[in-house]
Amino acid sequence: MKITANDPKRKSWLKVNKNSDFPIQNIPFGVFITKNDIVTIGTRIGDYAIDLAALHQLGYFEGIPLTDDIFMQDTLNDFIDDGRKTWRLVRNRIADLFDNENTKLKDQSKHIVEILFDINEIEMLMPVAIGDFTDFYSSKEHATNVGTMFRDAENALLPNWLHLPAGYHGRSSSIVISGKKIRRPYGQSFPKGSKQPVFGPSKLVDFELEMGFITSVANKLGKQIPIEETEDYIFGMVLLNDWSARDIQAWEYAPLGPFLAKNFATTISPWIVTMDALQPYRVESPKQDPKPLPYLQLEGNNSYDIKLQAAIKPKKEVETIVSNTNFKSMYWTIYQQLAHHAVNGCNISNGDLYGSGTISGSTEGSYGSMLELTWKGTKPIKMNDGSKRKFIKDGDTIILRGYCKNDKIRIGFGECKGKLRKAKYFKDKE
Ligand code: MN
Repeated sequence: MKITANDPKRKSWLKVNKNSDFPIQNIPFGVFITKNDIVTIGTRIGDYAIDLAALHQLGYFEGIPLTDDIFMQDTLNDFIDDGRKTWRLVRNRIADLFDNENTKLKDQSKHIVEILFDINEIEMLMPVAIGDFTDFYSSKEHATNVGTMFRDAENALLPNWLHLPAGYHGRSSSIVISGKKIRRPYGQSFPKGSKQPVFGPSKLVDFELEMGFITSVANKLGKQIPIEETEDYIFGMVLLNDWSARDIQAWEYAPLGPFLAKNFATTISPWIVTMDALQPYRVESPKQDPKPLPYLQLEGNNSYDIKLQAAIKPKKEVETIVSNTNFKSMYWTIYQQLAHHAVNGCNISNGDLYGSGTISGSTEGSYGSMLELTWKGTKPIKMNDGSKRKFIKDGDTIILRGYCKNDKIRIGFGECKGKLRKAKYFKDKE
């Protein structure tokens, strides 16, 4: 079935600013609450949020096999369960309804009032009830930088790294939506020169600029997913900030890997941009040498040209852009990640979130974490307000942005934001 929604010639009868992330060719999915306290599944065109439950009730999805209440939910899980064919039918229909050439909805002013909201009048909610969260480590540049800093340049990449997409199982309970404030974590660390571990607020809180993808049910426990089929089970992508406490991480990570340094918070952007919408921006992934094992081999353009940015906005000050990078530099593709994840028979479920790992390019300004940007704090970043940053300060807001652009259309993810609050221990006075 064709993805007619992506037609670059389409224009919407809704106003869309030139540099909007949300032209009619995007049609992402999210969940929002209106000022009248109604929770609904919706989409976005320009600066309008569109209530899909209301649109469905008014009969505009006629002919598409959907249950009556599919959009009257506080998560997208049931819709994701409907499968790729339905995602595509719905997205194509929405594009048709809001196309300038189509008068079916455009002329129904009473209906429009019911379904349309100013984006500033709604609040975005978590789009998915996330079951499991896995975070990969798929940027060769990032893994090399971290390996160099934590070990040495000679052994920066461990021998397995070039043969498999490394990852770890994260925590889903602390995944939050963009805008939610993050508390600086307490924990153990072992500062240089110290004789024993110390306990207190982390001094080295960092962001990790990542993308995440969300899946439908893909395989039963004990079965694998052939890499050629992995694409059928990926619903879409979000921006992801994998907040990290580097001092806690350095002390705790051997022998089992990330734990409390990572699970205090993960922020995702609210609109899930579908893989269908991202199709025009597919590009070749980096050449893999050595050649991966057969179960990880996939022909074609399997990466995506997504321009990414990270900014730090201190309290009451202007922001400073600290990184510009691109998703296409990732060594391991999302299809390889998913095939590898299931190759032992681990079941991939509805609403799972898979993080890419920090996305770092090959130049200094394209690193996806403060750890790399300031080289472990040895090269502080100069901020636009005159201050300096080695890591994140209390009151700083981290903003991630991402978009795809070809000669015809720009689509994007909006923002993934989170403000760091000062640490608080249960024994602290209020
Ligand atoms: Mn990470």
